[in-house]
Amino acid sequence: MKRLRGIGVSSGLIMGGVYVFGKERIKPRKRKISRKELKKELAILKYAEEETRREMLSIISKIEKDFGERFSSIFNIHLALLDDPILIPYARKKIEEEGINASYAFWEVIEKIIENFSFHSGQMGRMMEVLHDISSKMLHYLGEREQIRLEDIEGKVIIVGKNFTPQDTLQIPKEKIAGIVCSMGTQTSHAAILARALRIPAILGIPDIENILSSTDIIILDGRTGKIIINPTKKERELYARRKKEEELEVYHKEGLTRLPAKTKDGHRVNLVANIEIPEEAYLIKKENADGIGLFRTEFLFIERIDLPDENEQTKVYLDVAEAAHPHPVTIRTLDIGEGKLVSFLKTEEVESSFGMRAIRLCLKYKEVFKTQLRAILRASVKGNIKVMFPMITSIDELKEAISILSLTKDELKKKGIPFDRDLEVGTMIETPASVFIADILAEMVDFFSIGTNDLIQYTLVVDRINPKTAYLYEPLHPSILRSIKNVVEAAHKKGIWVSMCGEMASEPLYTPFLLGLGIDELSVNWDAVSSVRNVIRKITMEKASKIRDKVLSLNSPKEIRSFLKLQMKTIY
Ligand code: PEP
Ligand code: MG
Repeated sequence: MKRLRGIGVSSGLIMGGVYVFGKERIKPRKRKISRKELKKELAILKYAEEETRREMLSIISKIEKDFGERFSSIFNIHLALLDDPILIPYARKKIEEEGINASYAFWEVIEKIIENFSFHSGQMGRMMEVLHDISSKMLHYLGEREQIRLEDIEGKVIIVGKNFTPQDTLQIPKEKIAGIVCSMGTQTSHAAILARALRIPAILGIPDIENILSSTDIIILDGRTGKIIINPTKKERELYARRKKEEELEVYHKEGLTRLPAKTKDGHRVNLVANIEIPEEAYLIKKENADGIGLFRTEFLFIERIDLPDENEQTKVYLDVAEAAHPHPVTIRTLDIGEGKLVSFLKTEEVESSFGMRAIRLCLKYKEVFKTQLRAILRASVKGNIKVMFPMITSIDELKEAISILSLTKDELKKKGIPFDRDLEVGTMIETPASVFIADILAEMVDFFSIGTNDLIQYTLVVDRINPKTAYLYEPLHPSILRSIKNVVEAAHKKGIWVSMCGEMASEPLYTPFLLGLGIDELSVNWDAVSSVRNVIRKITMEKASKIRDKVLSLNSPKEIRSFLKLQMKTIY
């Protein structure tokens, strides 16, 4: 239990005392009310609704002031939930018809909604966060819950809880938060987005962490790797102090570098682009001086909701991102759901036996969903800076069918006189061993490749990418992975198309020299990694990178390769 791992959502290394909050979810006591009390309970419900709305509006306006509309608009969903035709009206109906107290009536309705959502979307997503958030706010105003009041805490602490809401982030003075660790949440959670924007190291998704830690514990938190060490030993503290110093030095050097292009010492220019999961992240492109968006995962639009996003809703989102990135390019990846990323239109049997039934396979099965997305992408492509790519391709037939549906969709738009970019570039992800072996054929059918190392490693080495128990087998430097990448780059270049890498391997500066040596054209990285990858690119020559590539390819063990790369990093710096 001393070391735990979750999802590192905001990088930074920190050691500090923890403050644990919100261990238990509130369950109000059920109380029968008299006819005389009915009016009062209805008024309490109305009061809670109004106060929650008022609080949300004030939070939205504070976020808008501090971060701009792109961030504040993500909280409109809280307001929409208060206007939901079921939530408040059903609670009201329950009070009237069952003669029960307002807090219990409201709690029962929202718990039912939470239960439904968790069936469709799992426990961790954004919509669950919104539901829990509105639930705790309403219950507070219904007299049931004290809110976290960190004002009384002295000094800086690492906040630990089940769920850290955006309001929590904003209400607590920033100088009091050293870090955040929660049992709920993912990369796309509100807490994750704001933690990144505020540059607070954060780890989400460590199950039950609020019960594992207590407020007397000290932890080391590494937001990049997602690891925590509980009550570190003297040796671990010393190691932490050394790494912290190195990190501070790195940050100091990075800041001046941001404005400079991703160009090697001998003038070779690499496209340094970023991965995004929600449209609001696109604004970071200017701040981090990225060359574009190399992977826009569109799943966020589909998960954690019961209906499907229609063509207009999707078009608006894609247009917004294209506009935020303009004139830089945005590569939109078509829907990649299944195997854990679930949406409500999937049938129960697809949810239950989901191995391999994901991404392009589901899109080719649910063609209308696919076509609607393609129509929206094409309509947004009028901006001229959008590219489209297909995930999880394993066969020529799959890619052929996807491309033919895209052509069909273009024909339909042409007939209706709806404009789109006639030169839209089309790519495929290479993230399965099957696609690696047929890369030379696939290269004839598309304009570019994007290597998804997260899945490529998972399917090549047969390790579940999200299971901590098999994490020790997940090895990016396994020669099979390195050779796969080499083969893909060569196959692409032979056919005259360009290659990007958007899997996590692209975000690891240690691998950058090797990837440059292979001649990769684009690296699509996490925001956290833009400057450190840029730094390596700017410190190396292509000649040196080629030498590193040759040596790496001649070594057989990942351990040896890692040591060699670490040594090279020392010489580069
Ligand atoms: C990948 O598999 O490397 C990738 C970028 O796609 P995702 O992580 O969304 O599966
Ligand atoms: Mg993938």
